[in-house]
Amino acid sequence: MIYLDNAASTPALPCALEAAAPFITECCGNPSSIHTEGRRAALAIIEAREKCAAAIGAKPEEIIFTSGGTESDNMALKSAALAGHRSGKMRIVTTGIEHPAVLRSCEFLESMGFEVKRLGVTPDGFVSPEQARELITPETAVVSVMAANNEVGTIQPFREIAEICRSRGVLFHTDAVQAAGNIPLDVNSIGCDMMSVSAHKIGGIKGAGLLYCRSGCGIVPLLHGGGQENGMRSGTENTAAIAAMGGAMEYCCRGIAERSAKISVLRDRLISLLLEIPDSMLNGGMERRLCGNVNVSFSGVEGESLVLGLDLRGVCASSGSACASGDVKPSHVLRAMGVPVEFQRGSLRLTLSENNTAAEIEQAASAVRETVEMLRSLTG
Ligand code: PLP
Repeated sequence: MIYLDNAASTPALPCALEAAAPFITECCGNPSSIHTEGRRAALAIIEAREKCAAAIGAKPEEIIFTSGGTESDNMALKSAALAGHRSGKMRIVTTGIEHPAVLRSCEFLESMGFEVKRLGVTPDGFVSPEQARELITPETAVVSVMAANNEVGTIQPFREIAEICRSRGVLFHTDAVQAAGNIPLDVNSIGCDMMSVSAHKIGGIKGAGLLYCRSGCGIVPLLHGGGQENGMRSGTENTAAIAAMGGAMEYCCRGIAERSAKISVLRDRLISLLLEIPDSMLNGGMERRLCGNVNVSFSGVEGESLVLGLDLRGVCASSGSACASGDVKPSHVLRAMGVPVEFQRGSLRLTLSENNTAAEIEQAASAVRETVEMLRSLTG
């Protein structure tokens, strides 16, 4: 199999598996228990917290472990909105191209009486800080702008928008689930108040994520119970997945420049091979694009059929975002970018990692060509 779906989930890194193993096989202690086994689990969480904090320039107490990116996004939006509500701040500013974890949380908050303003995007898939400047008022409870888009890989001007928020005293959250490990993310240089990361996108294992929460940012907990995670997220911690996340964060936040330089060579080759296929177009600009993201549309084919055809040829791919597959509606991101209708349904996302080789890229491109030709011949 040629695995080109790293934006959906990455293979676990050896350092992550090694860190998790004792908490799957031998140590069953609850990290809240005071006996030896409990203390061992608690220590693993402390170490993971320190590694995650160091990887993003945060303090360990600013890391809240969650079950993954979806929970981190929900927590950021809903708890900031609740905190804002207490002081009469009823506006939320976000973008039209966020992951559903942010989009649906905003829709929920809208149904509860918040006013949600959504930034539009350019045809290349970027939001504009100028539009953000117009929409962010002192009555804004929270602004949420993703660091990089999960479908088309565009790296958003989230630093500029964080700066606008800081100057106006408004909380800023960024969903960095796709950016982590691909671009440097230092919370102090970004100036964000909250940041979401998911373990299984960076070489950890499924079932852990984190929300960075700047000390004193004033958000309130949503899960009440035993008071774990400094009272911010009650519930027994997933020790194995958290330990793995510590290892993965430590690994993936180092050597980003070398890794991304290597991956972008493969990405650029793949894009040029795919654009040789007639009636194809690249979605998302080439500038400020994640090193591993390829998103190309082919007119006259359905993305889902393309993914299934590629699977039969030994290539794991995705159409739009994996979280939305099975959903026959064209991608909200491509629609927001104004991609022509005939290209919206035929989008293919291939996301690379440092494990991919040049030979795999050539093979994958041939598999795409064959599948597109086969599907086009079936539909005439
Ligand atoms: N945010 C972004 C940008 C994502 O790409 C994803 C998953 O694809 C999520 C959030 C959700 O993360 P998780 O799968 O850990 O819930």
